[in-house]
Amino acid sequence: MQCKDIPDAVFVAAVRNAPATSSARWRTRWDVAEALEAAIGPIPDNLFMAKARRLIARGLIGGCPCGCRGDFHPADECYDPERCCRPTA
Ligand SMILES: [Zn+2]
Ligand SMILES: [Zn+2]
Repeated sequence: MQCKDIPDAVFVAAVRNAPATSSARWRTRWDVAEALEAAIGPIPDNLFMAKARRLIARGLIGGCPCGCRGDFHPADECYDPERCCRPTA
């Protein structure tokens, strides 16, 4: 299985559908992975993070792509931009 085997829209939907943890609307990687695996089956952790990095780089989701926190949010729900890990930071 590779990144391209995970449809972008399915991953974005998993982020959106995962329960938000706080007022800043973060979804933990565990909750997102659970939602994603419910949709398309088991996904290796390294592949999950690789896919998340690509979607964050392309602006389809926001959050932490490096695994330091592993939290994500839909691109249109960035209520805490200072805590997003951006490539330029
Ligand atoms: Zn990070
Ligand atoms: Zn953000």
